[in-house]
Amino acid sequence: MTNLRIESLSKTFGTFTALDEVSLEIPTGKFVCLLGPSGCGKTTLLRVIAGLETPSGGHIFVNGEEQTKVPTHKRGMGMVFQSLALFPHLDVAGNISYPLAIRGADRAERERRAEELLELVRLPGMGARRIDQLSGGQRQRVAIARGLAIDPKVFLLDEPLSALDAGLREHMQIELRQIQQSLGVTTIVVTHDQKEALTMADLVIVMKDGVIQQAGAPMEIYRNPANPFVAGFIGTTNLLQCEIRDGAIEVLGARLPVAEGDRIGVAQGRAQLSVRPEHVAIGPPGGEIEAEIIFLRDLGESRHLLLQVGGQEINAQLSPEMHGAYRPGERVSLSFRPGERVVVA
Ligand code: ATP
Repeated sequence: MTNLRIESLSKTFGTFTALDEVSLEIPTGKFVCLLGPSGCGKTTLLRVIAGLETPSGGHIFVNGEEQTKVPTHKRGMGMVFQSLALFPHLDVAGNISYPLAIRGADRAERERRAEELLELVRLPGMGARRIDQLSGGQRQRVAIARGLAIDPKVFLLDEPLSALDAGLREHMQIELRQIQQSLGVTTIVVTHDQKEALTMADLVIVMKDGVIQQAGAPMEIYRNPANPFVAGFIGTTNLLQCEIRDGAIEVLGARLPVAEGDRIGVAQGRAQLSVRPEHVAIGPPGGEIEAEIIFLRDLGESRHLLLQVGGQEINAQLSPEMHGAYRPGERVSLSFRPGERVVVA
């Protein structure tokens, strides 16, 4: 069942278009990541859904009921802001139960719910703490608990983990996902971190310049990007000018017959070939595409070669057994693994 439906939603600020006819449908219980570069309209979309901004056009429906003109506090949405916006003068329990207080819930109800939510976010018994006595990760949990206090129909989070360091952030991604799954609440998280989106989401929505570029399951988007922007934005890839001619990909002076499994989104003519570094294979010189190794990058868990072919740089990830086999300055040949090549226009 569709929980949230958005139809042709637009938002302009003066002459600037921040959202351009955005339409999407989100089934009940899904975890959605809104992903895109800075300024693409993610926060604006979230704020329009929450009722914090008035759209310039379009419609918002929750469980089939139109919400477009319904005031924020009557939409039944929970929100976590990037800044967290916790109240320093209230203790943890007071922060969590604040949305219930402004809706007139009595003290016993507020205390019961705060305790329940503190259990959920793994801060049991911390209700009396002051906000400034909490670590960054604990504050994050309090903000999440407050966003869930009203048992929202849709849970909206704007870059909720961006202030955390890398280790804690990964931990909280998993925890947030587990909380969401245990409640089954439809959740939309804004992020500009593609790894975060791939870790948490059932559905990833990639935006650019106020327009949805692609929406789909994370691996679907990774394997089958709709255009060069999505290919380059999700994961690391090599984007190479190519031409599709008579069932072959012409690239870097070579002619590569299209193989089963290759995703060729262009029938004929100029396009771009996207090849992930893990699908670039290295062999001895003398092959169809010759390259020079210009840099070797060892990241511990993986090792990468930066190669040059003509004026073009290519990133290749070496398989573990090939570690140590190559030196900068060496000439090699490279190939793009058949079945893993993606051509987009
Ligand atoms: P970030 O990742 O940097 O937070 P974002 O994708 O969330 O970016 P938005 O905050 O939605 O981007 O902003 C989209 C565009 O709309 C930006 O160019 C921004 O400058 C503009 N914008 C947002 N709010 C306003 C406003 N109140 N008045 C004018 N322009 C605005």
